[in-house]
Amino acid sequence: MWNLAEGLAERRAAGLERRVRALQPVDGVRVHDGRRELLQFCSNDYMGLAADQRLRAAFVDEAMRSGVGSGASHFVTGHRPVHEALASRLAAWLQRDQVLLFSSGYLANLGIVDALVGRRDQVYQDRLNHASLLDGARLSGARLKRYAHGDMEQLERSLSRDVEGRRLIVSDGVFSMDGDIAPLSELASLAARYGAAMLVDDAHGLGVLGETGGGSLQQAGLDQDRVPLLVGTLGKAAGTFGAFVAGPAVWVEHLRQQARTQIYTTAPPAALAAATLVAIDILTEETWRRHHLQALIARFQAGAAQLGLRLLPSPTPIQPVLVGDAGTALEASEALDRRGIMVSAIRPPTVPAGSARLRVTFSALHKEADVDRLLEAMADIPVLRSAESA
Ligand SMILES: *Cc1c(COP(=O)(O)O)cnc(C)c1O
Repeated sequence: MWNLAEGLAERRAAGLERRVRALQPVDGVRVHDGRRELLQFCSNDYMGLAADQRLRAAFVDEAMRSGVGSGASHFVTGHRPVHEALASRLAAWLQRDQVLLFSSGYLANLGIVDALVGRRDQVYQDRLNHASLLDGARLSGARLKRYAHGDMEQLERSLSRDVEGRRLIVSDGVFSMDGDIAPLSELASLAARYGAAMLVDDAHGLGVLGETGGGSLQQAGLDQDRVPLLVGTLGKAAGTFGAFVAGPAVWVEHLRQQARTQIYTTAPPAALAAATLVAIDILTEETWRRHHLQALIARFQAGAAQLGLRLLPSPTPIQPVLVGDAGTALEASEALDRRGIMVSAIRPPTVPAGSARLRVTFSALHKEADVDRLLEAMADIPVLRSAESA
């Protein structure tokens, strides 16, 4: 029986229903919901580039030159000179041999994991990895071994068991809902010791971490010999859309031949590639954006400590405030909304049961006064403040 309505009602009653709102951007950090303006702290546009005038201009110019749609997949007629230029620019920036572009990060992860392993192989993944990485493992049919978040001992116990076939260790670089950075050097050492390959999905680290914004691997000093596969997404800090994998030539060539989610899909619009090229220039050159973000994070952490908010330990612009119960997280988010502030409540199954939270994120376009406004609003919401400080 198709008891869909009943299932929907149950979700709603449990405070787990997802709702979509149409929001018109006002500036880099403000949106309008049709009735009023909200100051938002929940986008992944960490560097404040999504609405940048220079990206807009590059996007429009390229659209005027070559049209909107690419018309076909990369292997047919969809691949443009500007796609080539973007792949080369990404490879140079990240110091990898080659880059293969994908239409989204979700598609990249599905296709890459599926192209690398199969039924006889093992994939080792952190429990908090992004859904697309776990789905990639499922699609591949490989045996999936999940280890507790950051638990290198459990991973090593799992790796030390003899198995046939290939082994692939997969991790987020920066965990999307917790904001912490994976123990990348330890992971790379374990990979080397046990003959495993390693893939890092740096969706939230790229542009944000590292000297030139090269991400968590750049910050950890891990090159392509130690971590052959680096996945980056362009819809977050780069402010555009799409994704890529970067690595040694033969790895990337293998994926070009085998990744079904790249082969059997329409190439992204050339205009996006043109805008992304401009974004990479800005990410590498405008270091004030990274410095300002760090100042905002420090200001928020200091204020949150004074208020007794339960922050998860995170050095990145993702600053989760733990609430616990899904319904309470939703209420807190709604209370902030009434105060003109938008922060999304993240609930199971996106995060483990009992760890519902407000996922606060910062953008380089936030001002210090914006952080203060957020803290003032949170101070008004008793459920956000831990018992010890109340
Ligand atoms: C957002 C995200 C993705 C998906 O990227 P899209 O380009 O939005 O599809 C993949 N991995 C991680 C860790 C992400 O946070």
